[in-house]
Amino acid sequence: MERRSGSTKLAPAGFVVEHAEIDTDCVFLDVRATALSATCPCCGTSSRRTQSRYLRQAADLPIAGRRVVLRVTVRRFWCDAVLCRRRIFAERFGADVLAPLSRRTGRLETIVHHLGLALGGRPAAAFADRLMVPVSNDTLLRV
Ligand SMILES: [Zn+2]
Repeated sequence: MERRSGSTKLAPAGFVVEHAEIDTDCVFLDVRATALSATCPCCGTSSRRTQSRYLRQAADLPIAGRRVVLRVTVRRFWCDAVLCRRRIFAERFGADVLAPLSRRTGRLETIVHHLGLALGGRPAAAFADRLMVPVSNDTLLRV
């Protein structure tokens, strides 16, 4: 069995699972980023000073026939750069992991994209449903 230290494939790269809850048709994973600092999107200064936290939800790859909902704890940091207009910013994750405002992880987005390309709108939606991949007809038609 392949093992990599410091990483778990249960959560996308850069995240650690703090708590898991299994429902009849859903798995909830409480995750947080492992990075100690974040970079201000305005000035590029790195910060380790956490201001607050909030929860964000995103769908991830299904596990054993259950949909997976990531409950991501997102930190807000202080920007300490004197000349920066931004005082507080939220940490960001790579577009391949979890893009800003996206309701799906990057790896789930990839599967949705390929389903759409291979099967086209409606058949892809039916297949996605059988795979427990949460995606709307509209999203697949857009792909
Ligand atoms: Zn800044």
